Amino acid sequence: VHPTAARRPNYINVQSENTLYDDQYITSKFFNRGSTVTVNDGQFTVVPKAEEYQFRTKRAVGKTGLMMIGIGGNNGSTLCATILANRHNITWHTKEGVQQPNYIGSLLRASTVSLGTDTNGKEVHVPVSDVLPMVHPNDLVLGGWDISSASLDKAMERAQVLDYDLQRQVAPHMALLGKPLPSIYYPDFIAANQEARADNLIPGADKQAHLDHIRADIRKFKEDNGLDRVVVFWTANTERYSDIIPGVNDTADNLLKAIKESHSEVSPSTLFAVAAILENQPFVNGAPQNTFVPGAIDLAERHKSFIGGDDLKSGQTKLKSVLAEFLVNAGIKPLSIASYNHLGNNDGRNLSAERQFKSKEISKSSVVDDMVNANRLLFKAPEVGEKGIAIGKGEHPDHIVVIKYVPAVGDSKRAIDEYYSEIFCGGRSTINIFNECEDSLLATPLILDLTILTELLTRVEYRKVGQQEDFAPLYSVLSLLSYMLKAPLVKPGTDVVNSLNRQRNALESFLKACVGLEGNSDLLLETRIW
Ligand code: NAD
Repeated sequence: VHPTAARRPNYINVQSENTLYDDQYITSKFFNRGSTVTVNDGQFTVVPKAEEYQFRTKRAVGKTGLMMIGIGGNNGSTLCATILANRHNITWHTKEGVQQPNYIGSLLRASTVSLGTDTNGKEVHVPVSDVLPMVHPNDLVLGGWDISSASLDKAMERAQVLDYDLQRQVAPHMALLGKPLPSIYYPDFIAANQEARADNLIPGADKQAHLDHIRADIRKFKEDNGLDRVVVFWTANTERYSDIIPGVNDTADNLLKAIKESHSEVSPSTLFAVAAILENQPFVNGAPQNTFVPGAIDLAERHKSFIGGDDLKSGQTKLKSVLAEFLVNAGIKPLSIASYNHLGNNDGRNLSAERQFKSKEISKSSVVDDMVNANRLLFKAPEVGEKGIAIGKGEHPDHIVVIKYVPAVGDSKRAIDEYYSEIFCGGRSTINIFNECEDSLLATPLILDLTILTELLTRVEYRKVGQQEDFAPLYSVLSLLSYMLKAPLVKPGTDVVNSLNRQRNALESFLKACVGLEGNSDLLLETRIW
């Protein structure tokens, strides 16, 4: 038995006419400040604007379940084991000494924000998780599906991620989680080398029956555990891309019809997403494939359900989104970025197949686009054709991504990146990065952050003052999750932000806006003036 409410009361008390606390809600007033720019004959006219919004956050943190698809994989089993170690305060011996469980690597639980300055002018920082009421990871109720029937203690052993002394102690707790629920397996979507694992399947080939089955699983898990919210999370194998076919997966109605007709192009991950959407529970995609075909986004919009994705941003891409921005913002011109990876876990094995690698390649590739587009001094803009439409993408650094499966290194992924740049007056700079890390120990805290943030965002509503009478939920695609995702899904028609710093600022500003605080002031004006 474990407590279901947030562990810490809401410590931050904003005293302002912009912030109102009552038993149910924190309601805040917020000015969304920006500028409208018009360009005429090379002249920029900038008009500042401020639009008034209200945010309303439900204070009670509901009892939250996390249902993972692929719970028996490296990420799934590592997440379960580390939550159980934290929940039961299991310490273990390593060759360095006694290790405590913790949540290092979680933006929410292991990083801080500045609230302002104290009377001595010193900045005051609090954990991000204290800004608004959020579920504590120890309180998540865990469950999910896997095409492999291994019970979770065996799955953890198979993953070979955690120290033996931790595995030994946490195994009895893992065994209580039992076997994963049977899942959907369409061999065409993941690598053929996964077939030997697939011994825990929902029978038949009727996709409508599969959808109904998954929906019933979600409902049952929610009822059996008395949950207010179930976050459904894809951490299963990377699938190949689905073809986008008009009449099949381009609209919500077509997608539902294609499922009824068991169309071959509907992937397991899309079926899971549709199941979650129809159950009105949020769905997050931690892998790179295009689970969110246009019909799935359309369906989420229609049901005002929440979705987020794609692909966990754990190592190489996270660093790339920092380094590329650093170079471009320093006025240095990256000419090529060459990335090599090798890894030896089951994810690597699956990615050794061409079509699954392709999904990963795509998700890793677009990460520098927005930084390049933001600097047309360094990179030539695309030519503009008739009707003002751009031809091509414009100048761009050469960018390649290679992934190889090397079983011997197991879960310890190695990533090698070369950044080759043009510097002053024709000079060249080469930066080489060698990154070596236990893959699943980087990914697990991201799954937690995504789950906890998603649950929070289901409790936040907004109102545009003067235009909207009632509070409304946020838009279905939760792009505020971008910090943890390699290829962030955003509202169709809006630009993707890849810069890690900008993603974090957006998140921080949003959380603060919900308690009536304005952005993060790095201006520190008082330190610049007399
Ligand atoms: P893994 O291969 O160890 O685990 C995947 C699990 O999914 C396996 O247990 C497999 O049996 C199961 N599975 C496959 N198809 C399924 C289906 N249709 N239904 C239910 N279960 C199914 O992989 P992992 O290392 O845990 O990674 C999981 C996913 O996360 C991969 O797609 C990977 O690309 C992605 N990812 C991982 C990282 C990281 O750092 N570990 C980073 C980014 C993305």
